[in-house]
Amino acid sequence: MTGKKHDTNRNGPRRIDHHRARKGEGGRTRATGHGPETAREPNTFSELGLDSRLLKAVQNMGFTEPTPIQKQAVPPALQGRDILGSAMTGSGKTAAFLLPILQRFLPKDRGTTRALVLTPTRELATQVDEERKALGRHTGLTGAAIFGGVGMGPQEKAFRKGVDVLVATPGRLLDHFRRGSAPLAGLEVLVLDEADRMLDMGFLPDIRKVLRHLPDRPRQTLFFSATMPRPIVELSRELLTDPARVAVERKQAPATGVAQALFPVPARRKPALLIELLRREEVGNVIAFCRTKHRANRLFQKLEKAGIPTARIHGNRSQNQRTKALEGFRDGRFRVLAATDIVARGIDVEALDHVVNFDVPNVADDYIHRVGRTARAGATGEAYTFVSPEEEGDVRSIERSVGRKLPRRTLEDFDYRVDGEERFEVPAGERIAAIKARRKEERERARAKEKRRSS
Ligand code: ADP
Ligand code: MG
Repeated sequence: MTGKKHDTNRNGPRRIDHHRARKGEGGRTRATGHGPETAREPNTFSELGLDSRLLKAVQNMGFTEPTPIQKQAVPPALQGRDILGSAMTGSGKTAAFLLPILQRFLPKDRGTTRALVLTPTRELATQVDEERKALGRHTGLTGAAIFGGVGMGPQEKAFRKGVDVLVATPGRLLDHFRRGSAPLAGLEVLVLDEADRMLDMGFLPDIRKVLRHLPDRPRQTLFFSATMPRPIVELSRELLTDPARVAVERKQAPATGVAQALFPVPARRKPALLIELLRREEVGNVIAFCRTKHRANRLFQKLEKAGIPTARIHGNRSQNQRTKALEGFRDGRFRVLAATDIVARGIDVEALDHVVNFDVPNVADDYIHRVGRTARAGATGEAYTFVSPEEEGDVRSIERSVGRKLPRRTLEDFDYRVDGEERFEVPAGERIAAIKARRKEERERARAKEKRRSS
């Protein structure tokens, strides 16, 4: 099957060329992810001044060359400077902050939590922790991830023991603080990862609360965000002292190397269009983003019915379900991951060559983040957006934001007519009425049963 992962061991920035070659569509920009090089910029990991144990890990991971953000951020961070970093999704920000942290902790004692990484979602926390494990493989440095949706016990243990690098979502960290443990007295480095995402998710007040729990001692703060909306700029001003500013992409534009296309389609025909694109292998393995949890569920049902192995991930799914879905998608068992934007930012799915916006994102920023997901670390990818007539307005604001018109595509020999097609989504009102009717029926049945029993 096209679009399946061919290598799970990393061989440097991936290019998913099989897809391109087969379709024979030329004219795409090939992203290398490399900005203009200045003479003084270090070009290799060893030129960055990294310890041999870290160099070995980086090599094991298949990173041949630092990404632009890594080239710019690692040297000042190694000197202990604060960093204000903005770079598009997939540009390698995680290693940009983890490498200097690990290196600076090498000569220190274990058993004190010296770095705290705040990250918006459980998935991202896990991912950062995994990258920490991989990068720190030869160092003996320790770490843990703490996030909601799982028991607090094991996390508490890690917390008390003290790990070098603690990765946490703000909400769960506050839960731990409330339980009275104060294991962050030795904190030396604070990282805010995906700060704009935390803002979007309404975590800014939580972050401020977390900050009040941190010890009042000099610390290094590394601040990363894909975009820099005003509240994030303000927060960064409060937190950072004379930061080194590293910005790889100043203009707000999706990651390069992504071919974007709009597919105008009547709302009711969206599932059929996706099924047809999958059937024709126009798309390989895809994340399909839906506007609501309900729509993600509906799409899941439709695809399953069509025999396409599908998983889903959204806010109503348990941690366990989400992990299983992601794992199955990563290892190719599921061809489609129906998702709400909870996974839109940061989650790394290897060899993902397509994003399908099953619905047009309401916010241009979300569009940019989603599209960025296909073009991680210089790989090329494609992003298709299904546009119903009702969504044309949102498309226009996206086009304004990316600064150009997006090409429109029509799938040849696909039947765009809606005749006889059932509605994709039952309107909320009807849905609620149906649920109410069902509940009423259940109650009546229970009452009847009760009566029978007591009589
Ligand atoms: P960001 O946080 O900027 O969105 P990540 O740190 O998640 O990006 O990195 C995206 C992907 O690129 C990950 O799979 C990561 O392992 C990989 N990566 C990071 N640095 C490099 C590098 N120097 N060379 C190749 N791949 C890299
Ligand atoms: Mg990231």
